[in-house]
Amino acid sequence: ASDDIKAAAEALHAVLAQMRAGVAFTGAGISTECGIPDFRSPGGLWTRNRPIDYQDFRASPAMRAEAWRRRFAMEAAFAGARPGRGHRALAQLLGEGRLRGIITQNIDGLHQASGVPEADLVELHGNSTYATCLDCATRYELDWVRARFEAERERAPDCPACTGPIKSATISFGQPMPAEAMARAKALSAACDVFLVLGSSLVVWPAAGFPVQAKRAGARLVIINREPTELDDLADLVIRADIGAVFDAALHH
Ligand code: NAD
Ligand code: ZN
Repeated sequence: ASDDIKAAAEALHAVLAQMRAGVAFTGAGISTECGIPDFRSPGGLWTRNRPIDYQDFRASPAMRAEAWRRRFAMEAAFAGARPGRGHRALAQLLGEGRLRGIITQNIDGLHQASGVPEADLVELHGNSTYATCLDCATRYELDWVRARFEAERERAPDCPACTGPIKSATISFGQPMPAEAMARAKALSAACDVFLVLGSSLVVWPAAGFPVQAKRAGARLVIINREPTELDDLADLVIRADIGAVFDAALHH
């Protein structure tokens, strides 16, 4: 296994050494070493709970209550999580000017926590560390939502400003994608020399379209994931290894 990591680190080191205008695209796999489970690995979140889609959340007070119950149950894992080796490596590459930006599917806020400025980060699926009203977009902090939820015997709170439903600021299945984030991700993907995928199974669309766009626009597509992904056949290089271990070894080469 240590030989595998060495070979993987050499391949990654060679990519990073040539990269001048890279873009990183991250998924749940970059955060598993931080204690946040991914979706599709054994023991991942989806094997336990079917996700609540947008229409159900909007239509049903019982679904809203269930969504908040799950969110607060996750709180312990999310609140204590610190950035991992992959997050820190990407922050370093941004600082060195070799990466132009990070596109993430993650909702855990760990890229920001590693010091990445908002201007260099695109959150395609939103952020679970705060909430917004679905009708008027007013922002609410989770502590406020939790206090209301508990005070009203696990009833999901409505917006005091407009009575609309309050939802964690994440994008659920069936919910429109955030237009500004999509436009920024598209622009980054169209103008990079290397497109680095880290820790995504690449099954969630439209997010998984960005590696395809980058490749079509002439970027070198590099996928780092410990399991096969949907786009391995399209990639110029597939590194099947643990993200933290391979970045550690590649950056301290
Ligand atoms: P996914 O669960 O579909 O895929 C994660 C991939 O990462 C898997 O193929 C797994 O083999 C790989 N992986 C896990 N740990 C790894 C490691 N240490 N090194 C290398 N590879 C590793 O996740 P996805 O593609 O991001 O799609 C899931 C959706 O769920 C996304 O839309 C995302 O918004 C959401 N999600 C987010 C978080 C988070 O914010 N941390 C966690 C779970 C799910
Ligand atoms: Zn409102």
